[in-house]
Amino acid sequence: MQKTMEMDRETITEKLNSYGIAADELVSFVTCDLSHPETYGTCVLCALRGAICVIYEDGTFLLRKYSEIKSINTENYISSAAVVIRTQTEEMALSYFTLSVSAKIEQFMSLVRKLMDGQNPDCVKMEEKTGDDFSYINRGRKKLFLRVLSYVPKYKKQLVKMILIIFLITGINLIQPYITGTILYDHVLNPDGMFSGRIAELVILIASIAAFSTFLGILQGRIGAEMSGNIIYDIKTEVFSSMQKLGMSFFSSKRTGNLLNRINSDALDIQYFLNDGLPNFIINGATICSVGLFLFIVNPVLSVAVIVPLPLIALIIKKSVRVFKKLKWHSWRKSSSMNSVINDSLMGIRVVKAFGKETSETERFCKASKELCDNRIREGVASAKVFPLLNFIMALGGLVVWGLGGAQVVSGKLTFGELMSFVGYLSLLYNPVNFMVKTFDWWTSCMNSAQRIFEVIDRKTDVPESHSPISIENLKGNVELRNVTFSYEPNRPVLKNVSLSVESGEMVGLVGHSGAGKSTITNLITRLYDVSDGEVLIDGVNVKELSFDTLRSNIGMVLQETYLFTGSIAENIAYGKPNASRDEIIDAAKKAYAHDFIMNLPDGYDTLIGKNGMDLSGGEKQRISIARAILMNPPILIFDEATSSLDTKTEQQIQKAMQLLIKDRTTIAIAHRFSTLKNADRLIVVEEGCVVEEGTHEELFNKDGGVYASMAKKQLESLNITAEI
Ligand code: ATP
Repeated sequence: MQKTMEMDRETITEKLNSYGIAADELVSFVTCDLSHPETYGTCVLCALRGAICVIYEDGTFLLRKYSEIKSINTENYISSAAVVIRTQTEEMALSYFTLSVSAKIEQFMSLVRKLMDGQNPDCVKMEEKTGDDFSYINRGRKKLFLRVLSYVPKYKKQLVKMILIIFLITGINLIQPYITGTILYDHVLNPDGMFSGRIAELVILIASIAAFSTFLGILQGRIGAEMSGNIIYDIKTEVFSSMQKLGMSFFSSKRTGNLLNRINSDALDIQYFLNDGLPNFIINGATICSVGLFLFIVNPVLSVAVIVPLPLIALIIKKSVRVFKKLKWHSWRKSSSMNSVINDSLMGIRVVKAFGKETSETERFCKASKELCDNRIREGVASAKVFPLLNFIMALGGLVVWGLGGAQVVSGKLTFGELMSFVGYLSLLYNPVNFMVKTFDWWTSCMNSAQRIFEVIDRKTDVPESHSPISIENLKGNVELRNVTFSYEPNRPVLKNVSLSVESGEMVGLVGHSGAGKSTITNLITRLYDVSDGEVLIDGVNVKELSFDTLRSNIGMVLQETYLFTGSIAENIAYGKPNASRDEIIDAAKKAYAHDFIMNLPDGYDTLIGKNGMDLSGGEKQRISIARAILMNPPILIFDEATSSLDTKTEQQIQKAMQLLIKDRTTIAIAHRFSTLKNADRLIVVEEGCVVEEGTHEELFNKDGGVYASMAKKQLESLNITAEI
């Protein structure tokens, strides 16, 4: 596991002293391992007697008194999180950390909460907590490695073939030095040898063995590629399907944008290891063991000479592995920082261009890229030192063997051929050592990647389907919220004790200022989130008890922002009913007033949209979305009206399409336009998470001092169309 530069108590008290804080003020501290959401760096959170403070890597310092803090929480992203505090006037992330230290941070925060509650600082202690969600990090690499290997048994046949080939390759490796040493020199080139003069046959034998070995190598590569490819396919499928099951809170994190990239490159690291690292590790390990054993049996004296440099080699490897590990970790951090610069810049390219920040963004990228480049150079320099040094020591070992072996040849204890074989075996013993260092490198990358992948796979959804879900065949479409309270984040309720009901077939408009909680109400009805308190009922059944299938197939959505998937227009319309016939699709498009503009597209209903295809205007996208809902024909419809203004013709078309769509179904519309508001059977006014008014447009419009009346009148004034209404 990678570690951050942990500071000790003494260093921290020294730092605190430099900020004028006495050493006995420090109650406890914890080290965080990110300086920004995706930039690695160390910062220390300190719990003081009367305040919390953070010492950042660059020497800056921040302090907030407990009396000022309203709440302290962690905000989880994917494999990182932040410690966030809220005061009367501000909300800020104090520090960021990877989930590998989350258990420690939780312990620290519970201690801080106790101090905030006024407990005696001399009595509070850090609780020992176990059972972190991301337990692989804490349980260590062995468990992680075993889990990666647990994907292998599914491919038993390939595995057996692979093991057989590995044994054959190891066997051939063992035969070769014997043939090119003892057989060649003692039996073929020696006039008294068993096969004296049969050079051509020996050459053919050596060539055949080399050809067979190459064939086995190709076969092993092929089986390895097949197996690792399939394993990675399994892992990626598992990650993707796990992600699909996660609740919206997972996706609302800003850092999900590069999640797929990350999974792809992490999966690739595992594939490299399974494909190349692991088989070669086994081959080399088996070669080292069998050659070692063989040499001892054949010539124990020379074998001791072979072993002499091994402790030195082991020491150098041990030291260099530590250096490589550190350098790798730094490179990983630097490349993460560079990626987040690229990500930031590309995701916010409109803002970058609007503010003319292209040059400064390029400078930011160059800085991050240079840091990565410098670290990669350091890596290269380190390996340029280590590997030649290892080779030199091995060459010295070879010289010792030559010396001692030569003496044995002269004294007649050893034949020249045997000495040549021994030298051959020596390289069989030393060369894999080099490879083992590289394999360790791969192993480290593979484990880091596996850790991140399993974190996503193991993440539990906060909106699980009931164990015995209820399916309703013909849903009537009665919707009710009963005393619902909901907060996205702890202690910040967005809906407060909301109760409302919508009868089957009724059209209700949700009205309110921006941020009042209208979309949140629809999010709870569709169960994108679960209520914190109270109940959401559909046809009298709690949505938590309903099967996902019933929920998804009975609630249609027309959202402000219509997302069109890569594919044809027809496929996009049929997204909710993939088996719809072309006639049904065209009929839905006609009802949504989309048919005409679709027919004007180059390939009509087969025109490709989305990535690499055509882009549609907001009004066109909305009509596609309405066509989708018409085709799906759900008993409950949620309609989030677009706030952006459309031209009069498009607006009229959308209104007509909507009238057709809402007919005979329960409709909950987040309404902004007067045409929609006036047509609603009933309006529900939401203000700061509470239902404050209910009634028809006329009733509410004429209510003196009413929230709706004031909103509507302001809007009318600004639109200057009072007369028309
Ligand atoms: P608008 O008309 O502008 O869409 P709304 O009435 O639909 O606003 P909601 O989107 O329900 O308002 O948001 C209600 C409150 O919840 C807002 O303060 C918003 O910042 C907050 N909120 C919405 N989504 C999240 C989220 N995923 N995480 C945290 N807070 C959120």
